[in-house]
Amino acid sequence: MFGPAGLADYHVHTRRCGHATGNMAEYVANARIKGLREIGFADHIPQYFLPETARDSSLAMREGELDAYVGEVLALGAGYKDVTVKLGIEADYAPGHEGALKAVLDRYPFDYVLGSVHYINGWGFDNPAHVDGYAGKEIDALYGVYFGLIQRMAATGLFDVVAHPDLLKKFGYRPKCDVMPLYESAVRSIAAAGMAVEINTAGLRQPAREIYPAPAFLAMCFECGVPVVLGSDAHRPDDVGRDFEAAAALLRRVGYRETAVFEKRRRSSAPLP
Ligand SMILES: [Zn+2]
Ligand SMILES: [Zn+2]
Repeated sequence: MFGPAGLADYHVHTRRCGHATGNMAEYVANARIKGLREIGFADHIPQYFLPETARDSSLAMREGELDAYVGEVLALGAGYKDVTVKLGIEADYAPGHEGALKAVLDRYPFDYVLGSVHYINGWGFDNPAHVDGYAGKEIDALYGVYFGLIQRMAATGLFDVVAHPDLLKKFGYRPKCDVMPLYESAVRSIAAAGMAVEINTAGLRQPAREIYPAPAFLAMCFECGVPVVLGSDAHRPDDVGRDFEAAAALLRRVGYRETAVFEKRRRSSAPLP
């Protein structure tokens, strides 16, 4: 297989989130050019976990835009025969705000919900504007906290897919400790929750220079029967399906022969082309 043809990209953003470019039709046009079987929008959910005055429209769509977001995806989806358009959302896991999140998720007919940890104690550790927050921090301890949050996120049962499972490596801050026990408890929680994980190629475009998650994490997922979806985390239309050949090769190397597909939050599988 060459390129992303026949695969599904379940993680694309649009300009609605305030830090991406392009409208939905442009993303779908790229998916068709690249021969994807599915494209799933997963724009950043409104920051339900922050007080209204603290919500930042350059990080996520505003509360009032969610109706329009959902309406636009559903309308677009009806218009194409050669590509399936899915309604996803990228939802932050914020401990203590599970009820508020559930209320938002229950209002819409999402095909799937990506669960993301972007914050450690209120610090947006993957935000380039806050990268100075790493200075003076004990990186090994941060990894422990991060994977602890992944476990707690899985236990909520609110999400279908763990997005970019080891996002903490984004800026190249790597732990010195043995990460295998952290991976193991995270993967066990994910498997116990019946969640899938995302193979997210955006890490290749960041200082980490590696797909999320690391091959060792993915191998554990395979051993534990955790299904996978692919995501480009595109923030511009050109990046739809970006580096999917590398992602598919990694999946095959680890042993995967199929990927998960979601419809109305029910999972089935499709062969890896
Ligand atoms: Zn984003
Ligand atoms: Zn994310």
